[in-house]
Amino acid sequence: MSRLLCEGLVKRYDRVAAVDEVSLDARGGEWLAVLGPPGAGKSTLARLIVGLESPDRGEIFLDDRLVQSTRPVDRGFGLLSQGEALWPHLSIAENVAYGMKGRGVPRKERRKKVEEALGSIGIEAIADRKPGDLDDLQRRRAELSRAIVDDPDLLILDEPTGLLDPRNRPAFREDLRRLRVESARTVVLLTHHRDDALALTDRLAIMDLGKVVQVGAPVEVYEAP
Ligand code: ADP
Ligand code: ADP
Repeated sequence: MSRLLCEGLVKRYDRVAAVDEVSLDARGGEWLAVLGPPGAGKSTLARLIVGLESPDRGEIFLDDRLVQSTRPVDRGFGLLSQGEALWPHLSIAENVAYGMKGRGVPRKERRKKVEEALGSIGIEAIADRKPGDLDDLQRRRAELSRAIVDDPDLLILDEPTGLLDPRNRPAFREDLRRLRVESARTVVLLTHHRDDALALTDRLAIMDLGKVVQVGAPVEVYEAP
């Protein structure tokens, strides 16, 4: 199980430091929450970690490996992003297989991994459906299957329940809770929903205005003098 270490990360847009000297670690197998209000810099931090953007300063390590020198596709990180990101013209199975196809994973292996990923989230029955035929909960489950299909060393969950119909949030939170129990994997969950952070993670990093202002177990963060 891999440890993520961020040291002194800075990312500016014009005058705004979206991420401002952030140092953070997620221990091997830990679920770490980054909790903060909209605009705090959480999505920018997520994009820096997965390599969709480069930091102006600072370093990101996975175990002893400096990840900046690795292309995003070769980092082996899974990302559940904030918005919906399934191809409408592809079936759920094809969507889940899409990234592996791009990386040249052989067809037989892709099929096996897609079956396992759909099975672990309990959505085998919708493998051949198109995203447009499904509700937002099923689509989110498909996106989660896609994020874990290649067994990533690190999984980033960016506002995982944020855009769901409020009635569907508890069910998806339960899917994540099950994933946490069933698989040993390092996860960073970024959210402004305190209830998600408290239900799903071991430690919280509170982020505001680009900075991590407090880190600790929920009781330390919420009951410190
Ligand atoms: P959060 O995910 O916590 O809501 P973001 O990382 O989206 O926060 O945004 C942090 C700050 O950076 C905000 O002030 C936002 O307006 C700014 N920001 C984020 N992305 C961009 C961008 N691509 N261009 C300009 N400003 C951005
Ligand atoms: P191709 O890769 O040539 O487009 P297919 O159209 O058969 O092949 O499938 C696309 C991808 O989705 C493949 O990686 C395949 O393994 C996977 N796949 C398709 N249908 C299913 C299914 N019902 N269960 C699991 N995996 C599937």
